Amino acid sequence: MDRLAHLGKKLTNVTTLRNRHVAIIGGGYAGMAAAVALARNDIKVTVYEAGKVLGGRARQLEHPQLDTALDNGQHLLLGAYQTTLALARLVNPGTAAWLRQPLQLHTQNGLQLAAPRLPAPFNTLLALLTAKGINASQRLAATGFMMHQRLRGFKLTQDITVAELLIGQPPHLIKSLWEPLCLAALNTPIATASAQVFLNVLRDSLTRSRQDSDLIIPTIDLSAFFPVPAADYVRSNGGDIVMQHRVRSITTSDTGGYLVDGAQYSDVICAVAPHQAAALIAGLPALMPITEQLNSYSYQPITTVYLQYSPHIRLPRAMTGLAGTIAQWVFDRGISHQQHGLLAAVISTAGEHSKLNHKALAAHIVAELHQTLATPPDAIWHQVVVEKRATFSCDTHLPRPTQHTSLANFYLAGDYTASDYPATLEAATQSGVKCAHLILANNTTKP
Ligand SMILES: Cc1cc2nc3c(=O)[nH]c(=O)nc-3n(C[C@H](O)[C@H](O)[C@H](O)COP(=O)(O)OP(=O)(O)OC[C@H]3O[C@@H](n4cnc5c(N)ncnc54)[C@H](O)[C@@H]3O)c2cc1C
Repeated sequence: MDRLAHLGKKLTNVTTLRNRHVAIIGGGYAGMAAAVALARNDIKVTVYEAGKVLGGRARQLEHPQLDTALDNGQHLLLGAYQTTLALARLVNPGTAAWLRQPLQLHTQNGLQLAAPRLPAPFNTLLALLTAKGINASQRLAATGFMMHQRLRGFKLTQDITVAELLIGQPPHLIKSLWEPLCLAALNTPIATASAQVFLNVLRDSLTRSRQDSDLIIPTIDLSAFFPVPAADYVRSNGGDIVMQHRVRSITTSDTGGYLVDGAQYSDVICAVAPHQAAALIAGLPALMPITEQLNSYSYQPITTVYLQYSPHIRLPRAMTGLAGTIAQWVFDRGISHQQHGLLAAVISTAGEHSKLNHKALAAHIVAELHQTLATPPDAIWHQVVVEKRATFSCDTHLPRPTQHTSLANFYLAGDYTASDYPATLEAATQSGVKCAHLILANNTTKP
């Protein structure tokens, strides 16, 4: 099946749609996904991006002192992220933009599992049954948990926390498997994380098709991975990208449609982060309930510590888990990005490390890696990137607004909008494509 079919090419009734001009506010993954899906259907779009670089929370980091392209944070995708991968393939034809490998988790001094090349769910069940670093009863408990959830369709009658969901699982299994998985997927501690969203991720990545559980690591920077070639695609389909323009005002227009900083549009897609959306839509009284919802959100940080060693330093694999350390995962950018000797250590959520300054934190991580992975005792240089609002805290019962709002022709895109997924690239791109579909379906003459 054409993986791009769901992007909506091509409409038959385009007469009224041709008169539309859609303003998209925000050039992150959500905004650029909407822009590509609309441009693909010959709808005129103008994207406004406040920053110098496209990509928002998944972007290339500007760093004048270094000639190495860094990202604002190391990202990992799953094979289940089909919308993001289809879009990246569409705008990057012929580019090997990612490294794909079957599910495997290698935790230094801890859990080790690898999925055999079998159809799902047997690949994951067998991976659990043969895992190293946990004993036989823990292996059975993990497998039993997955089979039980599968029988229940990965559905809860009422949302609970992941910690509550895991009651009855052996403590060592929670520490070595479920907790790291929850942090990696939801970036939220198990004590508050939504069990339903966690189960959605397990369902889609571990039980649908074998490829859905694949781990996907971009091999190019995160702006080049999708948003920058997406902008080229949009321009070549008649759209505009306005960089370094922070939209200040959105009002309804007397002649119908909307005024975005004074410019007239038929439709608006607001594709900014949730804390930014709350401020941007505050001038539209009909959206007050959404503003109130968004103001109740809390956020989780992600810290990435880049460490450059001598180019011959190489880890056994592109991604390694760490146990009992501040850093939870370490990525070898030599394997993924050909940036030899460059490691990216990732720390989800807040913790003791938040009290350290960048230099002290980098020194601590260098020491951790030296101890656990036998890397050199010193790095040549380091770069610490702290994203304080990396993701919304994916807690139980979090209200997530739909892409469709009570205002005609006004849509919300972004990882925080209604989705089965936590704050991820996939939630973002799916929401953008959904907004595009709503506009494409709304082919009335009304602006
Ligand atoms: C460090 C880090 C690590 C992460 N790791 C992963 C991972 O491994 N896997 C994964 O799937 N996800 C990961 N995420 C989450 C993922 O990056 C986000 O879910 C996704 O990028 C959100 O995209 P978005 O388009 O919804 O929002 P954003 O990326 O926040 O985009 C919003 C855009 O709007 C722009 N903007 C804001 N206000 C205005 C305005 N007034 N006018 C014009 N433009 C404006 C902003 O500059 C920004 O470019 C990570 C995030 C971070 C920060």
